[in-house]
Amino acid sequence: MGDFFERVVDLEATAEEAGPLAGRVVDWLAAEGIITRATSGDGVYSPSTDHGYVPGPDWARAVADASDPSWLPGPVAVLVGRAHHVGGQGEDEADSVTCPRCAARTVVIDYPESFEADEEVWQPFREGIEAWKATGRGEVPCPACGVPVPVTEWDFGPEFDLGALAFDFWGWPPLGVRFLTEFRARLGHRTGTQSGKF
Ligand SMILES: [Zn+2]
Repeated sequence: MGDFFERVVDLEATAEEAGPLAGRVVDWLAAEGIITRATSGDGVYSPSTDHGYVPGPDWARAVADASDPSWLPGPVAVLVGRAHHVGGQGEDEADSVTCPRCAARTVVIDYPESFEADEEVWQPFREGIEAWKATGRGEVPCPACGVPVPVTEWDFGPEFDLGALAFDFWGWPPLGVRFLTEFRARLGHRTGTQSGKF
């Protein structure tokens, strides 16, 4: 099965909302039998926590295909606090940034020419993201149109999301569409989904 995760990031919850909202979602997941209240660190490699909730008796209801009886998923870790979340192989920079004002896309990592971020392009984003983590506010002027845009409004492409609340499903089969739709409705916010390996 390997050490891989599927992650749901709440893109809109504030740091203040994140803890209480996490509690309500955990209550719902436990009531549905998808997780239990018991926690384990077995197979959990999340960036900000080393344990998660053990799957419940009805975990299969959350996944698209539960036909493999030998596939037992791992814990579900809950990540509370402003963070940049990366999927894939876990690079610490976005591949590109797209301005929500003018729609200009700026390349950060120029695949396949380079596998490293253009530091000149990325540095203001790194600083803006650090400011947001510390204070809840961070802006970066668009390289194309010059308008300062909050970091939470930039499109960083797949596998790079900013959020104060995220859920890591460690070693689960792909989550089902119906479950993800209900999960998003419970959060009441836009979400990003990621997958990656430890
Ligand atoms: Zn722009």
